[in-house]
Amino acid sequence: MNENPYVFKIQRYSIHDGPGIRTTIFFRGCPLSCYWCHNPESQTKPLEISMEEMDKAADFLMEEIEKDLIFYDDSGGGVTFSGGEPLCQPLLLFRLLELCRKKEIHTCVDTSGYGEAKVLLKAAKKADLLFYDIKLFDEKAHKKYTGQSVAPVLDNLKQLSKQKSDVRLRFPLIPQMTDTDENIEGIMAFLKENIIYRDIHILPFHKAGEGKYNSLNMENYMKDIQPPSKAKVEKIKEQFESNGFNVTIGG
Ligand code: SF4
Repeated sequence: MNENPYVFKIQRYSIHDGPGIRTTIFFRGCPLSCYWCHNPESQTKPLEISMEEMDKAADFLMEEIEKDLIFYDDSGGGVTFSGGEPLCQPLLLFRLLELCRKKEIHTCVDTSGYGEAKVLLKAAKKADLLFYDIKLFDEKAHKKYTGQSVAPVLDNLKQLSKQKSDVRLRFPLIPQMTDTDENIEGIMAFLKENIIYRDIHILPFHKAGEGKYNSLNMENYMKDIQPPSKAKVEKIKEQFESNGFNVTIGG
């Protein structure tokens, strides 16, 4: 049961959110509003949190995390902090990362990269791995499909690269939005010129989570858009590979 108002879901035995078997903690709050979001319930403003509440929330979440220590050990797994946007609740995120490190539990932070640079860089130092989305290169398209500027996402990625943080890039492949040649060429040129990372995971759009839009009374911009074909996914994989990237589909 989730008794924590700062987190909207805790998923145990997750095998798609990083290495091994993991517990994924979904933080409430996100500054973006991506058309294709699978967790629209996260797009609320994060709740203000006092130090006392934060301690309680961290204790509760650590209890949940530690229930599956044996699975993490056996599978090389750990915990993934996702959302929403975990950088929206930095105090809680930092505390959990510190507690996990003390207990030698592997940690991933799954971020859109849209947040304060100092919070992101600190989280990257405290975590073992960062998942970092790169969605749209063009400012107008980024604003249209996510609601925010792409500039901080690109700047923050440059800083992580300078800091040599362990980062797994992820490209959400969204038909008619991120899958254009222009966008993919723009992203690759930016990465090659500015960023050390050459591993990229392609995340093809899927329809899971669609039902949530109705129940939340939110507009679903994706209702007439179908997942990309295998051939399209393969074509984009080859496009990245022929430019020197190592590509994985999913995860
Ligand atoms: S960044 Fe992630 S959680 Fe936030 S709106 Fe986009 S897809 Fe949803």
